[in-house]
Amino acid sequence: MDMKILVVNCGSSSVKYSLFEIRNEKKLACGIVECIGSTKAFYTKQSQKVKKQKEVVKVLNHTEAVELIIKELLNKNSGVISDINEIAVVGHRIVHGGDKFHKSVLVTEEVKQDLKDCFLLAPLHMPAHYAGIEAVEKMLPGVPSVLVFDTAFHQTMQNYAYMYALPYEFFEKNHIRRYGFHGTSHDYVSQRAAEMLGRPLSKIKLITAHLGNGSSITAIDNGKVVDTSMGFTPLEGVMMGTRCGNIDPAILPYILDKYPQYKEEDALNKLLNKKSGLIGISGVSADMRDILIARASGNKRASLAFEMLCYSVKKYICAYFGILNGVDALVFTAGIGEHSSPVRENVCKNLSALGIEIDLEENAKASDKERVISTKSSKVKIMVIPTNEELMIAKESKVVLTSI
Ligand code: ADP
Repeated sequence: MDMKILVVNCGSSSVKYSLFEIRNEKKLACGIVECIGSTKAFYTKQSQKVKKQKEVVKVLNHTEAVELIIKELLNKNSGVISDINEIAVVGHRIVHGGDKFHKSVLVTEEVKQDLKDCFLLAPLHMPAHYAGIEAVEKMLPGVPSVLVFDTAFHQTMQNYAYMYALPYEFFEKNHIRRYGFHGTSHDYVSQRAAEMLGRPLSKIKLITAHLGNGSSITAIDNGKVVDTSMGFTPLEGVMMGTRCGNIDPAILPYILDKYPQYKEEDALNKLLNKKSGLIGISGVSADMRDILIARASGNKRASLAFEMLCYSVKKYICAYFGILNGVDALVFTAGIGEHSSPVRENVCKNLSALGIEIDLEENAKASDKERVISTKSSKVKIMVIPTNEELMIAKESKVVLTSI
């Protein structure tokens, strides 16, 4: 019997999953249950046996979603396993591990308790993750679960990089510090970049730019994170689809003073996380594809939004180039990083002083493969590497499983 790894990603109102063959890491099935809790939830699934299909389902909570997924995997006609014991391990993606979790861990009662202590750090995601863990325990009794944290890869930062210059007690009592996110993605693409360069991670310096709806840039030396642009939450750093990224913190009390309605519960958070970024500036869309179309047809605010996003990415790249004292490769990944050649071009232009030279022809080619898009003479290799967080979680789960 070939053993499998199930990867589960419980979001605030969705559950995504992928099932991998443990031996060759081949993906056998995947899908997503969305709009959990509403009367009309959606289940999109595909597997080796069935083509992609979407159906309306009634799923009131994460437990029901996990139940639905496991039943589908076991389904006699469309399922890809015949017994739950074929699942060797379940890997859960966890957004926030606070400063408690430095690496992936096997779920135990103690770990679950520590996880609860991190709830306040990501109140939308953590309770959903926890519900997912308990649902898996119920549906797959005896199958070990592993937690893989978005923050863990960044735990190598030095204190001077992760501290905020607030009174020290906020760090001690409230754990307010930079944590960083998208760690699984930065980790994955850095490993792939080392392979593409044909050199060990321990000998190279990288800047990885994960540019999606949420975006973060990371400086990596010797396989270890030196700094990353996201902070205490995924709001800090570069401008994003709906998030403002860095702003002067004094703007917040100023807004509260001028517009008292933002004092209402969650209104300020919503403004900064959902109504800013590309959508806030352009008024057109949070989606880079729409921004590019609007910009091409002469929409000035869409054009400004595009320029601002690229400029904010460029600033981090230049800062991290200095912090690392040079880099071997600059890696673009995630939706925008993998697919938006105008963004890559704009970010990389006029960086020849740093030895960063983009090949415009290579950059313009559409592809979903790993590739190099710098000129032959560029000192820094510019790479596009499709991210694969699920595979990374599967690999991590396998490593933890074999270590017990
Ligand atoms: P998430 O952070 O939600 O995982 P993704 O990594 O899927 O997001 O990235 C979504 C972003 O990628 C959107 O802004 C989308 O416009 C952008 N994107 C996807 N495909 C393209 C494309 N072909 N050209 C430009 N942008 C693209």
